[in-house]
Amino acid sequence: MIKSIKGMNDILPDDVHKWHSVEDKARYIFELYGFSEIRTPLLEQTELFARTIGEDTDIVGKEMYTFVDKNDTSVTLRPEATASVLRAVIEHSLLNQDSIQKLYSMGPMFRYERPQKGRYRQFHQINVERLGEAGPLCDAETIAMAYDLVDAIGLKNITLEVNSLGCQKCRPVFRKQLKEFLQEKRDMLCKDCSRRIETNPLRVFDCKETACQEAIKDAPRIEDHLCGACRRHFNDLLQTLDALGIPFHKAPRLVRGLDYYVRTTFEIKAEGLGTQNAVAGGGRYDGLVKALGGPDAPGVGFAFGMERAIMLMKEARPVNKGCFVVIQGGREIYRSAMVLISDMRSSGLQAQAVFEKSMKSQMKRADKLGYLVCAIIGETEVAKDMVTIRDMRTSSQVQVKRALAINKIKEMLA
Ligand code: ATP
Ligand code: MG
Repeated sequence: MIKSIKGMNDILPDDVHKWHSVEDKARYIFELYGFSEIRTPLLEQTELFARTIGEDTDIVGKEMYTFVDKNDTSVTLRPEATASVLRAVIEHSLLNQDSIQKLYSMGPMFRYERPQKGRYRQFHQINVERLGEAGPLCDAETIAMAYDLVDAIGLKNITLEVNSLGCQKCRPVFRKQLKEFLQEKRDMLCKDCSRRIETNPLRVFDCKETACQEAIKDAPRIEDHLCGACRRHFNDLLQTLDALGIPFHKAPRLVRGLDYYVRTTFEIKAEGLGTQNAVAGGGRYDGLVKALGGPDAPGVGFAFGMERAIMLMKEARPVNKGCFVVIQGGREIYRSAMVLISDMRSSGLQAQAVFEKSMKSQMKRADKLGYLVCAIIGETEVAKDMVTIRDMRTSSQVQVKRALAINKIKEMLA
């Protein structure tokens, strides 16, 4: 038997209503905020990710699905969406048409990670990218939108963590201090972090090793080193979140997985997920559009992990708001019933039947599929041009004129 690839899951019909629910809510909320959807290919040139995400990140260092195609080009299955969306924005000059772009997208991402609860090799994200506005109000509104989504899905015990990573001006000063601090602790750090002291010391904050977390307990805090402009940006953001009634915690060690963030970073965590408890994360990435060859447009965005959210959803399967047609008789009766089923669908009523089974097994199937209403068509019904309609909840039946049957069923389902 051929099985699926490790860490890549099928989404089965019994679960898919939860996926639809999350996708519908995201679309609804994002459009309320004035965002439009953008769809980009799953495969991009490897260089796009190497350049934007950063060579010393887990994603680029270990997790990318990279291979050489038949044309000897190195291509990579996208591990995240921001790079692809910005590539598309630049390629199609969208910022020349409108200097403010509010975009969302959803779909699968690929990372070669160790599969475990809440961590897969193909997983799904909903992504938001907002380009052209640099201020803290824009950050606050973007965080509010992520919060609205998490809230609409009904996730309980949510915490929002926010931090500022400073900018090109103040971060180098902090980086130097942190480097000196980490050099003292080198013996306690894992191999990766020991290397990061030189290459990217801030990333030590994001390490999942307990020993590394212990080592940085008393590390200097970036918040104490922000320049005036970054401090004002951060304070303004926090005040605006307060004004919008969004509860948050300051998280001085929140740096996030990608290299390109400046100033605002945030993460939303939900209870009940164990170690993999982050459902959404994002931040500001001014300078990234320019680094990719586009105009100097600031940006902020987030990515929301669908699997983790769906694991927590207790959404009941929606009731079956349609009609099951039970048919008994010869070919003529079946054909007459199939015409009625076709009319039902044309009028927007979901309808189905199962062919050439006993009346009893047809009824059983209607029950199993959760139909509230059945239409029964047999020889008597066809002869009288009537339809028998059965309310599955009460087992009561009525006969109505065939021409009135669809409206009657719709009334019963309303
Ligand atoms: P983590 O620290 O959990 O590895 P990350 O910083 O790598 O997360 P991001 O790149 O910020 O994650 O992605 C945003 C969200 O996507 C995460 O908060 C999470 O919900 C989800 N996510 C990331 N990687 C995976 C994965 N391998 N499997 C399932 N969901 C994931
Ligand atoms: Mg990760």
